Parts: sequence; structure tokens; C-alpha cells
Amino acid sequence: MDRKKLEIAYSIGVLIAIPLIVVVNTVILTQSTNKAFDIELRRKADLANSIISQSSIQLIQDKDYDKLQENLDALESSQPSLMHSAVIIKSNEDLKIVAHSSSAPVELTPNAEMEANLVYNRKGSVATFIDTYDRKSNPAQAWNVMTPVIDEKKDVIAVVSTSLLTVDAQEVINNAYQKSFIVLIISIILIVGLLFRHFRLVGYIRLLAKQRELNQTMNDFLSVATHELKAPTTIIKGYLSNVVEGDFGPVKPKIKEQIDVALSQTDRLNSLVQDLLNVSRVDQGRIEYKFTSVDTTKILNTIIENYRPIAEEKGLKLIFSPVDNLPFVNADEGRVQEVFTNLIDNAIKYTKNGSVNVQQIQKKDTIIINIRDTGFGISLEAKQRLFQRFYRVKTSETETISGTGLGLWIIKQYIEAMNGSIDVETMEGVGSNFIVKLQIK
Ligand code: ADP
Repeated sequence: MDRKKLEIAYSIGVLIAIPLIVVVNTVILTQSTNKAFDIELRRKADLANSIISQSSIQLIQDKDYDKLQENLDALESSQPSLMHSAVIIKSNEDLKIVAHSSSAPVELTPNAEMEANLVYNRKGSVATFIDTYDRKSNPAQAWNVMTPVIDEKKDVIAVVSTSLLTVDAQEVINNAYQKSFIVLIISIILIVGLLFRHFRLVGYIRLLAKQRELNQTMNDFLSVATHELKAPTTIIKGYLSNVVEGDFGPVKPKIKEQIDVALSQTDRLNSLVQDLLNVSRVDQGRIEYKFTSVDTTKILNTIIENYRPIAEEKGLKLIFSPVDNLPFVNADEGRVQEVFTNLIDNAIKYTKNGSVNVQQIQKKDTIIINIRDTGFGISLEAKQRLFQRFYRVKTSETETISGTGLGLWIIKQYIEAMNGSIDVETMEGVGSNFIVKLQIK
């Protein structure tokens, strides 16, 4: 069976099981209510009979059967669940009904049960199940409760017999059934709703799996495409550089100008390919971090010297005043180099005039490096999205500056993998300060 069939079978199972549980629960509940009701009724009859038997001793001895009958009637009207009652005595070996409530049937005759109780029962009330009647498909049970009337000499002088029909219980049960039917309908509606959600959820999960598959394909494509692009662009750049440098003879200024444009575009293509390669490596977890003691001063000095001509060409001051004897950080040297190259490159790229200032601070076990510029700055809204991949701030000033919007995302992944952090303080039109924290130990 495939997964889809299993899911459907499961859903149908749930659809059947839950109402079934509700029904079974209701049946069990009503049956126990029924039993409790029966017991309660019999207890009532028992109590009524005991009261009669206590108050009847004198009346039976005085043969005041009219008063006895009055008592039976009074009892019956106070207890509507009881049917007729009667008092039976033994006279000359025969059983004789000496008093009965007005509702007793005319054909009421003493029976063996009554006799047995009269002769042998010394203990108290005895309840006997008589029959089950089907009253318009509502079964009702008839019970008989007999209580001996015992005189001072501990002789049984009479028996009080009361009949009761458990029809009242039936009403309660019918009510319960009706309510459980409503509960059943509501639970079915809820289950159907639940199933809808369940199917939607299954849909979402499938979509997610598909998306993951798609991501994987995209990553694979990216990885292959960037690899394939890297080699030709490196070769093109090599040949163009050779031409410009005069390896194949003197180059006319006009041609040199054209080749320089081609070279800068190749550089642009190269850095895009490099960024895409890094993104796919990060995504696939293929970046290996070799943790060693890294000298940030040495790294920053090298980068600053590399970028000094570019900064000077733009008329920017590039300042770095190294702190003496600064402890080394625990990180991957190559990645640290990429992080600061990217930040210093950005600072120069997004600053029109003024300066780029690199600072080192030690705070306990952390080295904080500030890359502060007097550039365009970043709006509050753009700041929220700054470290997202492919995000570039779009203003009239940044419009003409080329970039991929991948650099900050990539270096954030590197820094966090090295247990560090990156943040930015910035104000539009004033400048930015990128703050990198790296751990000493
Ligand atoms: P790229 O520079 O290739 O566009 P980055 O991820 O390095 O990509 O930077 C994302 C965006 O953040 C840039 O497009 C730029 O708008 C903004 N940004 C980065 N550094 C600075 C900075 N120092 N000053 C102002 N804006 C910056």
C-alpha cells in the first residue's frame, strides 16, 4: 500500500473510531445510570415499606385495617415512583390481604413469594424482579419489594408488599440518548473539520518536501554552473591582462581603454561567481572551518594595504591604528580574511567622501572590530533586511554601484559559525559602523 492509501485509511479509521467511541461511551453511561436508578427506586420502596412496617404493628394487632389502608394511600401519593402496596397477614394457614392502596389491581392475590416472606423472612426487605415490559419500545422493569412486620416477640405478623415500575428511569435514559445523539452529530462535524485540516496539512508537508527537492536541484545547478563559469572567466582575465600589460606587443591607448572595461567586467563576473559558489557551499554545509589562533592585526594590515590605492583613488582616508599585543582570536584564518575584506570593500564602495576607519577593541574574551565609514548610511527599514541574501539597498546613490547582495549574508554565516557576531550602527546620510565580535578562546 502506498502512502496516500495509508493516509486515507487512517483518516477513515479516525472518522469511524471517534463516533463509535462516543456511542459506546453513551451506552455504557446510560446502562450504569439505569442500574443506579433501579437501585435508587428499590431503596425508596424499601424505605417506604420499613416506615409502614414500623407504624403498622399496633394497627395490625388492633385489626384497624382502614387506618392501615389510609397509611398506604398516603405513602403512595408521597412517592409517585411506587405502584400499589398491600399488607398481607396469615390467618388460619391462608394468606389474606388486609389492606391495600387504592391503586392496587382488584385481582391482587397473595402468592407463594408473599408466603415465603411471611414465614421465613426475619431479616428485612427482599426485592424480586418480576418482569420486563415493552412499553412502546421502552422496556420497563417491574420489581416487588417485601418487608416483614415484626412484633415485640420477634414474630412476623404481616408482610408489606410494594410494586414498582422503573419507567421513570427510561425517561432519563431517553433524554441521555437524545443528548448523546446531539454530541454525536457535533463530534462528526468536528471530525470532518479535523480531516479537512489533516488533508491540508498533508498537502503542506508534500509541498515542503517538493520545495526542499527543488532547493536541492537549484543548489546542485548553482554548484555546477558556478564551477563551470569560474574556469573560463579566469582564463579570459589572464589573456586580457597579458594583452594590457603588453605581453603581445604595444597596445594602443584606445584599445587599452576598451580592454580595461572588459577586464573590470570580468572582475565583476568573477566576484559574482565567487559569491554564488560560497552561497551554495554554505547551503550544502560544505564549508570547513579550521580553527586556529588568528592574528586580526596582521590580516587587517594586509587588507588595508591592498585597499589603500583604491581608497586614495576615490579621495578617501583609510585609517587603521593597530592595538599593540592584542590577543589572537580562535577562528578560521581564511574566513576572517574574507569577512574583513568584504566589510572594508563595502565601506569604500558605499562612501563618496570622508574616511573609512578600522578599529580594534578588546573586551574580556572578545575582540571587537569596528569598520566605520562616512558613507551613504542605511535607512532603518533597509537595516532590517541588510543581512538577507540578495538584498541590496536601492537608492539613487547605490543605483550605479554593482554588487550581488550576497556578501553580507555570506560573512554573517561565516562569523556565526566561528561563534562570533556581526551588527551595524548606521544613519542614512551620515555613515555606518559594522561591528564584528570574535572570541579569543
Ligand atoms: P553588495 O555590496 O554586493 O551589494 P552586500 O551583501 O555586501 O552586497 O551588501 C548588501 C547591501 O548593503 C549593499 O547593496 C549596500 O546597499 C548595503 N551596504 C553594505 N555595506 C554598506 C556600507 N558600508 N554603507 C552603506 N551601505 C552598505
